[in-house]
Amino acid sequence: MVERISWQGTIIVGAGVSGILLSLHLANRGENVLLVDQQGLGGGQTGHCHGYIHRGYIYERITKAEIELLARGAAWWEAAVGHSLDERFRSVLGFDTHEVKDSVTMSWADAGLATGEAAPNPFSYEQSAMTVDEWSMTPVQVLEREWNKQPLKPSTVTARIAQLQPHDGGATAIAQTPQGNFSLTGDRWIITAGTESTSLIPRGSPSSVLGSRMSFMVVARSQSLYPDTFCLRTSAARGMFGCSRELRGQRYSLISNYVSFGRDVDHGIARWSWLQDIQHTLARSLPHLWEDPEALWGVYRAPKAEVNDGSMAVPSGTAWETSNQVYIFSPGKLTTAPALVEDFIGKLPLHEGTPASNDGESLGRYSPLSWLPELWTQIPLVSRFALFGAERGDHLVEARHRIGVLQ
Ligand SMILES: Cc1cc2nc3c(=O)[nH]c(=O)nc-3n(C[C@H](O)[C@H](O)[C@H](O)COP(=O)(O)OP(=O)(O)OC[C@H]3O[C@@H](n4cnc5c(N)ncnc54)[C@H](O)[C@@H]3O)c2cc1C
Repeated sequence: MVERISWQGTIIVGAGVSGILLSLHLANRGENVLLVDQQGLGGGQTGHCHGYIHRGYIYERITKAEIELLARGAAWWEAAVGHSLDERFRSVLGFDTHEVKDSVTMSWADAGLATGEAAPNPFSYEQSAMTVDEWSMTPVQVLEREWNKQPLKPSTVTARIAQLQPHDGGATAIAQTPQGNFSLTGDRWIITAGTESTSLIPRGSPSSVLGSRMSFMVVARSQSLYPDTFCLRTSAARGMFGCSRELRGQRYSLISNYVSFGRDVDHGIARWSWLQDIQHTLARSLPHLWEDPEALWGVYRAPKAEVNDGSMAVPSGTAWETSNQVYIFSPGKLTTAPALVEDFIGKLPLHEGTPASNDGESLGRYSPLSWLPELWTQIPLVSRFALFGAERGDHLVEARHRIGVLQ
């Protein structure tokens, strides 16, 4: 018989940036919170994104309200990172031509976005560059520090949640764990399951504002990459981003662009096609990196949750109650997540749970959540030729090609 566990309080599904911050807020206002994830803390998009803190410079058109939202989120991350953001951390933007730069900066100025400073151009193809007040960090590291600082933490359990059924006074789902399945009932649920949130929306509730698509991230290990954080918003580069990481004295860069695929596409073909595409930009715009004979390269799949209609509109996130006491929350961007979490929590009524009545002992049999390493640290690295020169991307991670593994 399936064990039944009942949680008197809020159950949060998904321990990315959204679930982590939501659960800390609720725990710190004295509520009973259970945070559930199928993998661990900081997996999902939060563990495989660039960690680029946007202020609006990637968008050609942006409103004052969107700039304010991004600025509130960015301010939270700045405070959490806790050091001054010097030149080294600021992002360099590249533009096709001086004319494009002038026209884009005019539209930013109209919206109230500072236009940044001219920068020595580190890109070989783009004609013009600018330094802006954007930067990057390692999100999982920052979230782990934030978690450790908080006096009150949520309870946690590692489980995949399926078949969520709302009923009077909450909802019940199946929690799947390596130790066996159990039935989990809670009187309030918040779903922050990123690309998988749609599969948990109760039948009959609206879901059209949430979607997902698939993209990829290149990991490059090289000392020759400059600048640390950049965005080539040029049409030729298809919005290519790069953000640096350091690990054991080695320098890595995570590089991606706007090109993405439907979720149902064959992954091997999509990866091959994406690599063919991005290699031209890498070769043209970042020749020092591309030609570095010491560089090692890897690629990973990076599915992305999308709010709204899949356009490049600034994501303002979404949150709604699908049925009585079952909420969906999706921030659209890492940058805006802290601000949107605060807004959402501000509107969520205080939940009067009774800690003593929780089934903590039964839950103790299942594994609590632990922190996951960011995905890029797990990717096998190979020579440039082995990654980009193969005929089909899906053969690339075969053992004979593995000449370096990030650890
Ligand atoms: C490649 C890429 C690059 C990005 N770069 C940036 C950037 O530079 N700057 C920026 O601002 N934003 C960026 N984003 C967007 C940003 O990463 C996301 O908006 C943000 O991380 C979403 O966080 P989340 O907590 O809502 O979801 P996630 O981080 O995806 O977390 C969802 C969690 O839910 C869990 N889960 C899913 N289904 C279940 C289930 N059934 N049961 C239990 N657990 C479940 C998953 O394991 C996961 O841990 C990027 C996204 C991608 C994909």
